[in-house]
Amino acid sequence: MIDLRRITQDTDLYNLHTHTQFCDGHAPMEDFVVEALALGFTHLGFTPHSPVSAESPVNMTREDVLTYFDEMSRLRETYGQRIHLYTSMEIDYVGEGDGPADEFFKQLPLDYRIGSVHFIPAIDDASDMVDIDGKFEGFKVRMQEKFHGDIEYVVRTFFSQMMAMVYEGGFDIVGHMDKIGFNASQYREGIDDEPWYDKLVMDLFENIMDHHLIIEINTKAWLQRNRYYPNLKYFGLLKRFNAPIVVNSDAHYPTLLNSGRMEAIKLLNACK
Ligand SMILES: [Zn+2]
Ligand SMILES: [Zn+2]
Repeated sequence: MIDLRRITQDTDLYNLHTHTQFCDGHAPMEDFVVEALALGFTHLGFTPHSPVSAESPVNMTREDVLTYFDEMSRLRETYGQRIHLYTSMEIDYVGEGDGPADEFFKQLPLDYRIGSVHFIPAIDDASDMVDIDGKFEGFKVRMQEKFHGDIEYVVRTFFSQMMAMVYEGGFDIVGHMDKIGFNASQYREGIDDEPWYDKLVMDLFENIMDHHLIIEINTKAWLQRNRYYPNLKYFGLLKRFNAPIVVNSDAHYPTLLNSGRMEAIKLLNACK
């Protein structure tokens, strides 16, 4: 296991959350390595969306895993002298026993693991796992079709899935811990400032700290949506409790490898 905390202490020039041709990224892995080198990065971690039991066009298949490892080896041979390259996955938590703690993931030779929630069960069919992470247009449709417009159910279930994932473990970094906040607040403005919502975030934060996990500040949406995950308003809390943090761009394009990262680091450092 690599020392993730050491990386972030030593440098700001890293990214540990990167999507490529193995899932829904828009360029081959090598293009990201080349871009990372151009930016002066010293560490780059790849995190394809893991094979998943739910129906998903974005996740990699189990058959792709070996091809992914082979490409990692090739890139390490070519570029390994100039940059630390890490093999990882963004592993979906789908339900009890179906997530990062699954034996399948435990036995994979990964350098570290990100745990994330992108799916929650439909309101009246627990076996129907629904993507709540995509663009708002699609989310709005699924809100009616799968959740009967019950946004509180969606928010509460997202956070209860996150809580369950943290309890089950099997990963190192908590991916975009309040990601539902964007779509939920588009659906009902201000929902993410309501006290009950805030409490869900605080409870999750406490649980993450109890389990000594690393919190990701995800900067993917900063440029377009002016939003970090966790939300900027929680940066002070992270700082106050000295939470272990990595700042990741969740890049799907090489040109966005450092997008929003430097601003987030600056804002975090400015918190007292
Ligand atoms: Zn994600
Ligand atoms: Zn991601």
